[in-house]
Amino acid sequence: MARLLEELGFALDQLRAQHQGPAGLARRREARLAAIVTHARTSSPFYRRLYRDVAPARHSGGVVLAELPPVTKQELMANFDDWVTDPAVTRAGVEAFIADPSRVGTPYLDRYFVCTTSGTTGYPGIFVHDPRSLAVSQSFILRIDLAWLSPPELLAMARRGLRWAAVVGTGGHYAGAGWVQWQRRRSRWRRRAFQAFPVQQPLAGLVAALNDYDPSAVTGYPSALALLAEEQLAGRLHLKPVVVELAGESCGPDVRARIAEAFGGALHDAYAASEFTPLAFDCAKGWLHVNSDWAILEPVGADYRPTPPGEPSHTVLLTNLANRVQPIIRYDLGDSVQAKAGPCGCGSPLPAIRVAGRRDDVLRLLAADGTTVRVLPLAVGSALDETPGLHRSQLVQTGPAALRLRLEPEPGADAAAVWHAASGRLLEYLAGLELGNVGVVRAAEPPEQSGLSGKFRQVIARVP
Ligand SMILES: [Zn+2]
Repeated sequence: MARLLEELGFALDQLRAQHQGPAGLARRREARLAAIVTHARTSSPFYRRLYRDVAPARHSGGVVLAELPPVTKQELMANFDDWVTDPAVTRAGVEAFIADPSRVGTPYLDRYFVCTTSGTTGYPGIFVHDPRSLAVSQSFILRIDLAWLSPPELLAMARRGLRWAAVVGTGGHYAGAGWVQWQRRRSRWRRRAFQAFPVQQPLAGLVAALNDYDPSAVTGYPSALALLAEEQLAGRLHLKPVVVELAGESCGPDVRARIAEAFGGALHDAYAASEFTPLAFDCAKGWLHVNSDWAILEPVGADYRPTPPGEPSHTVLLTNLANRVQPIIRYDLGDSVQAKAGPCGCGSPLPAIRVAGRRDDVLRLLAADGTTVRVLPLAVGSALDETPGLHRSQLVQTGPAALRLRLEPEPGADAAAVWHAASGRLLEYLAGLELGNVGVVRAAEPPEQSGLSGKFRQVIARVP
């Protein structure tokens, strides 16, 4: 009961903050930032060392974020036991906990939620959230539902009852599947209201399980929902969701349109990370609005200097204002983000961004004149997606100026013709970027999901 009241308190405060506009959001952000930095300095030996030469917060001006040195996942993971603020939490203890898959979504040390990143393209991370951080994450549901659902949609949801299907990777302690398990453990009605469906299971089994559950809300990776959209259009899947949420991967407009056509209902994008969920949610104007009363996102260049609004950043620094047990302050999240210049046309006072892609997947290709050219995954993906007869594709970088193209033609399509058309489009696109020297090889293998997380990446950059 106390937990529910705490969540309700956070949810109402969020609505009040939004109503008060940018000033109300900033006031909360600054107070919470000062508190988390003070806490990190006093209770985390890692931050105490890191901030040794940084002046303590001035009484009048509060904390100046830009004066704090950024941190990376590698650095934090290497100093795990010094990073956490509860000495009972240790890397050895958490690793023993996550080694047991039956403990997904169960509390570590009776109170902490633990999740890991898959680490297929980067360095694996282990994140520990305290009860307050969980309550804040939970409380965003009200803000997001009120923004996403019209009164008739809210009514439809109430009539059908909440049955929320998450089509996600379940092969480990991932944030999505773990969060669903955590919910299910809380009460009997939540056991009915939340269910995870393993994205890795055979499609026929997934379709049968979803038909049986009859969800009123569906969330999943766009690649998984695109496959399910084909099943729905073929008449084998019969879902009638009030809302469909895309999360975990970027997707092009064609994939999005196909999912919308198949499922109907409200289609929305969320931007979440294991380090903070949920970071942002989309609006009718196609922008993602950051929950800026509890999270700070700073788009920056490779030198960690601010990237001006309107330009895609090299990476983005995240500050989590809710989680005390594992302070995340100016943390290099690795995504390329573009901040919107000026207010959003939808009227939301929350800052608006677009996510261009994971930095790991931004291709850096060597041009003939020796310069390095950056190619964003969404741009190269949409160049390929328009190929007739192509179901899906995956581009793997194998050298400074070498790419391998994996293709999956539509059933009945001529594979050779699809290769000819797709590689032609790709070479033409590259030539337009002065990258006519880049070689493209036809892969024998089809596109592959990555590891246990089951996420699909259209572009895989392997060369640093
Ligand atoms: Zn907006």
